[in-house]
Amino acid sequence: MQFTQKSREHIESCRFCWMCHHICPIGNATGLERHTARARALGLSLVAREAVEFSEDIVANVYECALCGGCVADCTTGWDPVMFTKEARLGAALDGKLPPYVLKMLANFQETGNVYRLKNENKIPDFADSDTLFFIGEDTRAMGCAKMAVQLLQKAGVDFTVLQDEPSSGYSMSFLIGAAAETKTVMEKCAATLAKYKKVICYDPADAKVMKREYKEWGITLAPEVLTFTELLADLIQSGKLPVRAQDLVFTPQDSPLLARDLEEIEPIRSILSACGEVREMFLHGKETMLAGNLIMHQYMPHVMEKVAENRWLNAKNIDAKIMVTACPAEYVLLSKTRPAGIELMKIEEVILKCL
Ligand code: SF4
Ligand code: SF4
Repeated sequence: MQFTQKSREHIESCRFCWMCHHICPIGNATGLERHTARARALGLSLVAREAVEFSEDIVANVYECALCGGCVADCTTGWDPVMFTKEARLGAALDGKLPPYVLKMLANFQETGNVYRLKNENKIPDFADSDTLFFIGEDTRAMGCAKMAVQLLQKAGVDFTVLQDEPSSGYSMSFLIGAAAETKTVMEKCAATLAKYKKVICYDPADAKVMKREYKEWGITLAPEVLTFTELLADLIQSGKLPVRAQDLVFTPQDSPLLARDLEEIEPIRSILSACGEVREMFLHGKETMLAGNLIMHQYMPHVMEKVAENRWLNAKNIDAKIMVTACPAEYVLLSKTRPAGIELMKIEEVILKCL
């Protein structure tokens, strides 16, 4: 495969460096060197020099990264393994070398609108039209339920609607095949559907990330203002529309890398939780956060993903956390599966509903 000059430079810089290995949630879960940014760069540098084929094993290694940006944030010299890993995924797609599990997810997406081929039975009821759209997202529609979030917005008197036939934001396609023409088509279709709204509130940070960052990078115009769910909730509490009362509860936020790193959104979850009780931080938070789960990777590396979530619970246990709180549907699913006895897990909307 052909890499851009930019990617080649980043690959060459990472391939002999060991500095960020401690920060990788996948490497920490498996203990394997192949799951570090450096090892991935080493394999890809050989491909870039045409010293080896872009083999099945090197392609598989390209999919063993959660694109969480931990290494990028930790890199003092500014190199970017996420960028070259996504480019390698695009290259695998263009070269017809995608692993079978990726092909299966892409086929699922074509047929069902989500990569998991799941039909969520928890239907959200019909809503009257509004110029504000509550965007539920592919992961939540397939695997979870945004009923509590909807209930909370109604309590706050927010005028909003939801789409029964909501398009994908393009997050899953971007994760699987990077900047492919197919990904751009999905994003353009979503931007066209959303064009009639003034405001879009993204429940899932993954959708907020692609709408706020990737659409711009790809020259896709998105007419409405995009807000994260946490951003909106913090404002609703601040303005008194959600009159929470602080309880004798201690909350530990799990920062989603999509919010804390990709969107640099760190404060809203803390301002919500401080209004509801005490905040106790765990090791690695804010921009330095550690991923607690990725649902797409859970499709093909289930045990590793569960270990990633278990490791995050260890960080919580080490500070004697009482309630871990997340605003990310994917992390919620993985943290629920692995929750140890003695610590509660709550969605951010659940915390607010409890404190109203
Ligand atoms: S991202 Fe930075 S710290 Fe990590 S391997 Fe590359 S050069 Fe080293
Ligand atoms: S992006 Fe995340 S998962 Fe991928 S190498 Fe970097 S730290 Fe590891």
